[in-house]
Amino acid sequence: MNVLAVGAHGDDLELFCGGTLARCRQRGDRVFMCVVTDGRGRPKGELEQVIAIRREEARRSAAVIGAEPIWLGIPDGGVWFDEPTRHRFVELIRECQPDLVITHPPEDYHPDHKATSRLVMDAAQVARTANYPSALPPHRAIMPVAFMEAERGIGFLPEEYVDVTEVWDQKLAMLDCHHSQLQPPTLPYDPQAPLPPPEQNMFHQYVEAVSAFRGLAVERRYAEGFRFWQAANRLLTTRVLP
Ligand SMILES: [Zn+2]
Repeated sequence: MNVLAVGAHGDDLELFCGGTLARCRQRGDRVFMCVVTDGRGRPKGELEQVIAIRREEARRSAAVIGAEPIWLGIPDGGVWFDEPTRHRFVELIRECQPDLVITHPPEDYHPDHKATSRLVMDAAQVARTANYPSALPPHRAIMPVAFMEAERGIGFLPEEYVDVTEVWDQKLAMLDCHHSQLQPPTLPYDPQAPLPPPEQNMFHQYVEAVSAFRGLAVERRYAEGFRFWQAANRLLTTRVLP
């Protein structure tokens, strides 16, 4: 199975579905981790350098589970629902030919998250169109779109759960690749700085709270929750999540 996960920012996929992507790799899926923006928001520093740091962090994180990184490089805070951007999403889907797409829920908090979600949903349909102007073949297969956890779980009620207990260390290792995000945003980035201890690591604290709560629903130590887009060409009779 091909799984395409599309997150607006460099650490979104790790936070909201990193364990599930690790489980997908375990069962032999090909996993594409697409980061939409270039990460220019932080750390503090020169723009080109910051973008290079964020891209390398995303590459290393994908390598933890053997996923294939894709970097769209759209300016952070500048993801818009427009024709040129939608075209890039159509091409992304045609290139990866996914059996499952995972992205942000449409009502999530950040404009980049909301735009990413809508771009994925609209591109999913356009990618099927036979005469759409593209060198890549149409993607005609039924392709469910799963919405991953919302920021801090706010307003998100999952329909399906994935047990991520046994891949928990991998999820944390992926998050730790985003070293630049674990430093004070107002200070110049120090690549040599040690990672904070687990009790002060904001990523670890964040996912511990959310995934333990989702795990409570299904009587597992850690879980990740998902909802599915209910629409034509998106529904199957079988479960696609691990
Ligand atoms: Zn984000």
